Amino acid sequence: MVREIKQEQKELYQCEECEFKYAEKEWAEKCEAWCKEHKSCNLEITEHAIKESTLPEKQEG
Ligand SMILES: [Zn+2]
Repeated sequence: MVREIKQEQKELYQCEECEFKYAEKEWAEKCEAWCKEHKSCNLEITEHAIKESTLPEKQEG
């Protein structure tokens, strides 16, 4: 079940499997359906995920 969350006064939809967040429920549902079936993420779907730019992230390269 896609989870609706509020972040920065915007509604986001989160895939409960991989916890990626999407602005559009449609993508979150696609992601979740894929994640459940394949137990992995589809890059073409996760491309549409909201990037957590507010969190300090360590990136290599
Ligand atoms: Zn997912």
